Amino acid sequence: MKIAFYSAQPYDKSSFDAMNQEKTYHFLFFEIDLNEQTVKLAEGCDAICIFVNDHANAKVLEMLAALNINIIVLRCAGFNQVDLEAAQQLGMHVYRVPAYSPEAVAEHAVAMILTLNRKTHKAYNRVREGNFSLNRLTGFNLHGKKVGVVGLGKIGLAFCKIMHGFGSEILGYDPVESPHPDYIVKTSFEELLAVSDIISLHCPLLPGTKHIIREESLSMMKGGVMLINTSRGALIHTPDIIKALKTGKVGHLGIDVYEQEEKLFFRDFSEHIIDDDDILRLMSFPNVLITSHQGFFTTEALAEIASITLRNLQDAKNGVKTSNLLT
Ligand code: NAD
Repeated sequence: MKIAFYSAQPYDKSSFDAMNQEKTYHFLFFEIDLNEQTVKLAEGCDAICIFVNDHANAKVLEMLAALNINIIVLRCAGFNQVDLEAAQQLGMHVYRVPAYSPEAVAEHAVAMILTLNRKTHKAYNRVREGNFSLNRLTGFNLHGKKVGVVGLGKIGLAFCKIMHGFGSEILGYDPVESPHPDYIVKTSFEELLAVSDIISLHCPLLPGTKHIIREESLSMMKGGVMLINTSRGALIHTPDIIKALKTGKVGHLGIDVYEQEEKLFFRDFSEHIIDDDDILRLMSFPNVLITSHQGFFTTEALAEIASITLRNLQDAKNGVKTSNLLT
């Protein structure tokens, strides 16, 4: 089976090659993302494997169908980058990896909280320069703070468990009722916004959650709130969050995802002019921490992603319908 990988990085090659010792599959790794211009690279392949910022829109899917490719495996959980309606109409089979290591993303969200709060990134640089002053490094105790969690799925619940360990009070909002530990107090979205000291987003990007954090919702929050987004960039309206940072309404912002990330993330622009004024403004705040979609990025998660993706390929080839099948 021949598979074209788009947006492939060296770590993708390593983790997939490690699972393909017997050369059952023939992998073609392309660093470029999937779009209307690059779809032809997959000619002659049986399937394509894509990631979060590839563009499997209706036009691209039609072009794939014309190349007789009807299997798409996503090496990620989110699937907002695929036009599923178009895929279904074209009779395509789209599989994803719904869960590989929810703890990896939850732990990254916690890392962002600790970094923003205790300013370890600044302390590291200071000490290396011989500056042992503590001025302006004051943090706050997580113990006793109210932590609002938007989305109580796999990652949200893993995050709650860690924050509960710190002795924080956990508030959760999820429109879908499902079992959760007793220490999570379910609230409305509005109440969560109003009382939380820290808000962490763990819901998917859907038409109903796009810009869930915008001027209106920001105005309901406590002054100086810490906001963390490791889910999808478009949950936050970027110009509104910039305004809220300027007024101090948002005291700390940690984002692992960004609405325009597809133009930037996973690439090295250190010797280029960055053509995105919003991210440059965000980068200029001392109380903003940006990481480039690395929440998933642990050895364990990469191995799990490769293993499940290859199983999905086998299932697609054999016409086996599993819960990983989107259409
Ligand atoms: P999940 O499907 O297990 O949970 C999502 C939860 O969000 C569900 O319980 C759902 O009911 C809830 N939800 C839906 N609409 C909501 C709304 N309007 N408000 C609040 N909650 C709502 O998904 P998961 O595995 O926990 O992943 C969550 C998200 O994390 C994914 O959608 C993906 O965007 C993101 N993610 C990021 C990374 C990363 O590397 N940063 C990696 C994996 C996943």
